[in-house]
Amino acid sequence: MSQSSATRISIQNSKTGKKEAFFPLDSEHVTMYVCGPTVYNRVHFGNARPAVIFDTFFRLLTLHFPKVTYARNITDIDDKINNAAAEAGVDISDIANKYTLAYQQDMSALHNLIPTIQPKATDHIEEIIHIITELVNRGHAYEADGHVLFNVPSMAGYGQLSNRKVEDMIAGARVEVASYKKDPMDFVLWKPSSSNLPGWESPWGYGRPGWHIECTAMINKHLGETIDIHGGGADLIFPHHENELAQGKCCHGHDVEYVRYWMHNNMININGEKMSKSLGNFLTVEELLAKYPGEQLRFALLGAHYRSVQNFSDELLAQSKRALDKFYTLLRDTYDVEPIPPEDLREMAVARALADDMNSPEALAAMHQLATRIFKCEDPSELAELKGEFVASAKLLGILNHDPEEWFKLSNDSSISEEDIDALLMERVEAKNSRNYARSDEIREYLDSQGVAIQDTREGTRWQLK
Ligand SMILES: [Zn+2]
Repeated sequence: MSQSSATRISIQNSKTGKKEAFFPLDSEHVTMYVCGPTVYNRVHFGNARPAVIFDTFFRLLTLHFPKVTYARNITDIDDKINNAAAEAGVDISDIANKYTLAYQQDMSALHNLIPTIQPKATDHIEEIIHIITELVNRGHAYEADGHVLFNVPSMAGYGQLSNRKVEDMIAGARVEVASYKKDPMDFVLWKPSSSNLPGWESPWGYGRPGWHIECTAMINKHLGETIDIHGGGADLIFPHHENELAQGKCCHGHDVEYVRYWMHNNMININGEKMSKSLGNFLTVEELLAKYPGEQLRFALLGAHYRSVQNFSDELLAQSKRALDKFYTLLRDTYDVEPIPPEDLREMAVARALADDMNSPEALAAMHQLATRIFKCEDPSELAELKGEFVASAKLLGILNHDPEEWFKLSNDSSISEEDIDALLMERVEAKNSRNYARSDEIREYLDSQGVAIQDTREGTRWQLK
């Protein structure tokens, strides 16, 4: 089975700046790599965005292709980890293990699926040394003063991903000018370690890898020389992804495409301001999860297109809750519903919106439209079909994971309970039967004022939260 000919996935490729039809190298197996966190503290909320975006994209790819391998790495060697360990007076591995687990728990709480693989840098030292050796042998890297550096001028076309010229980068960037560098743009592949820092024996002495090389080594080992999709935050385009690309293209000795489609998500602002420690709005995923259900945070994150800056606000969170409450009220009578099969789901509005360069706001709008159609539908077979589409689409978005009852317990802050609503609707039936239309209207108005919409159908009265 290959990708449906009717609906194709398109991706805005950061490398070309164009929206392109997605064709994987192998139509039976898609590969995707997303840069994960450096594990030295609880991750800030900005890290939740790529995790949710690429998780949703992973679900979509799985809907279209027989096999998808999604790798999200863990950077467990970094000076920030070393510093955190020294500060806490504990072992470096204690810090890395603690925050790896915390990250994985935070991501699960946001209802992200577990990626196919979660490779760790420290498990790939052998592969890292191998790639650095290849780069040295091919004249793209050199040893100087215990360091190994990638020589940027050795690669024609460096800067093609971030669309920068080397001269501009030198002029504009705060490039670390070290005496052992041949060129100011050269970047570290390997650096020396002292005995109190993590390190490994290598052809260049006891040392540890730079950051960029770990991703290239893990991609080569797990996904191959060329991968289909590489994702991450837009702040990684330069220098991290540019340098990954240079390493990935130069280490094989023949012309290799490193990544076919680059996808970059934009940043999050909090209440209109950039997240920063000095502004006091530097929120961790853990802090937000203490206040809001993970699904509400996920829904809010899907509310903006991944390429635009998202303004995360109290209003957005409130809107997300209202939408989820409305969807869960519909779900109360969907226990017996069969989700529609994947080949049908691919052609439905939610999946089609996601296939169009991950247009998640449009996908959520399609969920609202679907909810309205279900609410108004009176034909039983059409209703079953619509509900089947609704639950299958929700699963594709990673929402509506709870039992409705559980959800309302988890999130409920409304003044009117389900029992109250049911009791009032019973009273309204009695009022109507005894021709007390004034009372029946009064009940409808009261429910309306409480945010409850009602619909009279042949089978009785339905309600949902507005
Ligand atoms: Zn990376």
